[in-house]
Amino acid sequence: MASGILSVHVMISIVIPVYNEAENISELYSRITSAAEKWGDDYEVVVVDDGSSDSSLQQLEMIHRKAPRWKVLSFSRNFGHQAAVSAGIFYSRGDVVALMDADLQDPPEELPRFLDKWREGYHVVYAIRTKRKEGLLKRACYKLFYRLLRRLASIDIPVDAGDFCVLDRSVVEVLKAMPERTRFVRGLRSWAGFRQVGVTYERAPRHAGAPKYTFSKLVRLAVTGMLLFSSVPLKVSAWGGLCLCALSMLSILGMAGWALLDIRIFGMRPRDATGWTSIVSLIMLMSGLQLMALGVIGQYLARIFDEVLGRRPWIIA
Ligand code: UDP
Ligand code: MG
Repeated sequence: MASGILSVHVMISIVIPVYNEAENISELYSRITSAAEKWGDDYEVVVVDDGSSDSSLQQLEMIHRKAPRWKVLSFSRNFGHQAAVSAGIFYSRGDVVALMDADLQDPPEELPRFLDKWREGYHVVYAIRTKRKEGLLKRACYKLFYRLLRRLASIDIPVDAGDFCVLDRSVVEVLKAMPERTRFVRGLRSWAGFRQVGVTYERAPRHAGAPKYTFSKLVRLAVTGMLLFSSVPLKVSAWGGLCLCALSMLSILGMAGWALLDIRIFGMRPRDATGWTSIVSLIMLMSGLQLMALGVIGQYLARIFDEVLGRRPWIIA
């Protein structure tokens, strides 16, 4: 609808990834249903069950039976949040698509504010979290990640914006056409361009249950985000390597000169067998740096490998 015509009947798709959210589903259903009464627009809810092992899927099937506008996709196993969101986007049919979490951290009551912006002609309206309810350490990590990503990324990825957003159909079509399998939705969304705007909101605490993003999943997401949208880590390792090589050339020349002149510096000559400590520590430092550089390259290689294999990013059971 970003064309600016105020048509009355729009269809809203709400995409929700679900992974073991049994305690939240009935609340999610009633909150969305009561919020939707106020929108007055037609809507569908596309729930993607990301291989839950609790009763989430059964509950969702029951909801679908009484409210057919709730559609359920069920993955054959846990493919991860980003794959679930991507699949939801892929199968949604609305003129505008909203992405939100199943744990009610993204309140459905906030959606009208987003839709207003969309009606003003913005193609992407993303949420900026003003307050987080997580622990201090987690908050600090998030802060650091978003600022680092902003610094390093080759595109303009907004700070503190998660996946909670509203996307115009034109952007949805761009996302659908993107061939990559490793998906970092908020990065792709920024990459797509169009008219984008942020809306601030207070991120609510999780309604019930434990976070489904484990620490390792979060780290993986952060690393993927960095690697897919920035080649700075590769450049850093290359330049770091170059500088160290230059430095060691200088030091080799210096050492050789010193050995030839055979003079005492600080009461020491190269021909005495001293210096073992410094040599060993230098070797360790250098091999550490080399391994680090190799690791960075390996990370990129792994992403390339994934893309070359061309496996499907999700499987619907
Ligand atoms: N989620 C998912 N697959 C996963 C992990 C999480 O679909 O492997 C869903 C989860 O059910 C929730 C959303 O992604 O709807 C966000 O997860 P979570 O609340 O754990 O993340 P956080 O809010 O801590 O970032
Ligand atoms: Mg959450």
